[in-house]
Amino acid sequence: MITIRLTIFISFFSTLFLTGCSQNATTMNNERTDNPYYSRTDTTTLNLPDSVWKKVLPEDVYEVARHKETERAFTGKYWNHTGTGTYYCAACGNPLFRSDSKFASSCGWPSFFETLRKNSVVYESDNSFGMERTEVLCGRCGGHLGHIFDDGPPPTGLRFCMNSIVLDFEGEEKTK
Ligand code: FE
Repeated sequence: MITIRLTIFISFFSTLFLTGCSQNATTMNNERTDNPYYSRTDTTTLNLPDSVWKKVLPEDVYEVARHKETERAFTGKYWNHTGTGTYYCAACGNPLFRSDSKFASSCGWPSFFETLRKNSVVYESDNSFGMERTEVLCGRCGGHLGHIFDDGPPPTGLRFCMNSIVLDFEGEEKTK
């Protein structure tokens, strides 16, 4: 009887422990247990094949970051998000924007007037859909983030128009 009770006790707490672990994909060091390439401190450039990204990224992040999909306006988690902190690349953890460079834009996507570091992002010309635009990609993993336009506010006059799904926001309390 004691053995049965002990087995039930151990099973119950093992289940609780495992459930807790599976729901927490981000470790204390802000690394991802499900994505070994994610790091907010490692600045090494990543040059990985598409098959690897498909394996380590959630499908919605993968479709935007690697296949240049665009989320629908006014549907992303950050288009009207406010709060002090940092926005990181959701695919690789690269620090991209500070919240103090975010501004309220009527476009329906999170918009920033400058990047956190000059090399946080890289640019490519994009002539798809009959438009001449400049694509913004992550400076570390090369993932598609969005586009840049010249109708932003001072001091830069730029508008980095980003997809929420490829951004990770961390509030100030945790980034200190
Ligand atoms: Fe990235």
